[in-house]
Amino acid sequence: MVLQKILHMNSGNGETSYANNSSFQNVTISKTWDLVDETLRNMLENGDFADDHCLNLVDLGCASGPNALSVVSHVTDTIQELRKNGDGTSQEIQFFLNDLPNNDFNSLFKLVEIFNKGKEVCGSRSRCSIYGLPGSFYSRLFPRKTLHFAYSSCSLHWLSQVPYGLESENEENIYIAVDSPSEVLDAYAEQYKRDLFTFLSLRGEEMVPGGHMVLTFIGRRVEDRSSKDDCAHLAILAQTLLDMVTQGLLKKDDLHSFNVPIYMPCQQEIESIISQQGSFKIKKIVTFPVRWDVNKDTDESPFDKTRSGNLISDCVRAFMEPMLVSHFGELIDCNVLFERYSVKIGEYFSKERTSHHMLAISMTIQ
Ligand code: SAH
Repeated sequence: MVLQKILHMNSGNGETSYANNSSFQNVTISKTWDLVDETLRNMLENGDFADDHCLNLVDLGCASGPNALSVVSHVTDTIQELRKNGDGTSQEIQFFLNDLPNNDFNSLFKLVEIFNKGKEVCGSRSRCSIYGLPGSFYSRLFPRKTLHFAYSSCSLHWLSQVPYGLESENEENIYIAVDSPSEVLDAYAEQYKRDLFTFLSLRGEEMVPGGHMVLTFIGRRVEDRSSKDDCAHLAILAQTLLDMVTQGLLKKDDLHSFNVPIYMPCQQEIESIISQQGSFKIKKIVTFPVRWDVNKDTDESPFDKTRSGNLISDCVRAFMEPMLVSHFGELIDCNVLFERYSVKIGEYFSKERTSHHMLAISMTIQ
């Protein structure tokens, strides 16, 4: 399977779309604003960009929907604000929105148009050109030494491919599970290491001297790669798929050959890869929990198992459905799968109230 041809989030603006089911990612993004602001301040205070015609910024793995525009808006406003008291330089900004070619760029471009009109209406003088940039962030995306600031949130847990050899080892699991053999843990960790290494090397080539990067990872709080809490959302999805196999709704072989190309690293792992690769120096790391069922509109309401189950299920569906459909084919009824999943995950969550462990890292090119 060529992952880059399959991987995308649910398109459009409908009920199951990523655009409508990405509160988790939205809350994560907003929790990193302080780090982003501090990074941009450092970059503009210390960088020598006077001869550059424009500042080139990118959101790597932007998906489609309001989150991408919230990043553009926050970053460009912050730069504008910082420059008010600064040295008076005012290069124009080019903001690139990067994702894989199957991403719903059409919907994204409509939002860009609305965003640009909004800027005009407010009389904003900040000049920012926004472009779509299709391609894998595991390949070169920019000419050498042209990129000033790279941002990526909740995207770098996606691997470039399913690690080799997993089909025969991981059986009814679809990701690392508590009972996964060590070969599975190693295959995932090795693939992750290769991928992050590649990512850092490429960005290292593309960045201007003084360039900065803020990356936010969905991580693991402990070094143990098969810790229950960090894998449970995918373990429960595997159980739900297995129930459907048992009932003859899906084929056993299809489940055995299905493995999700995701990896959630712990802080030590990321730090060690960054230092081994050597292009970037870490300036600051912040970690914070984000509850699985977080929802920016209704966060204050009392706990409700069904509501939380639905929120988590809708979020997982928005990123898993295209991959499930591509693997299981027409056999899979995602309405049935995710109705069942929402009950199971709601039940689990009512006992565990789990959060994802998020890690945001600010770094600069060495
Ligand atoms: N940053 C957004 C989207 C997160 S979803 C937000 O926080 O809301 C993760 C996105 O990463 C998906 O849109 C997926 O297509 C993209 N992605 C995964 N692997 C990628 C790759 N190799 N290159 C570019 N984008 C990738």
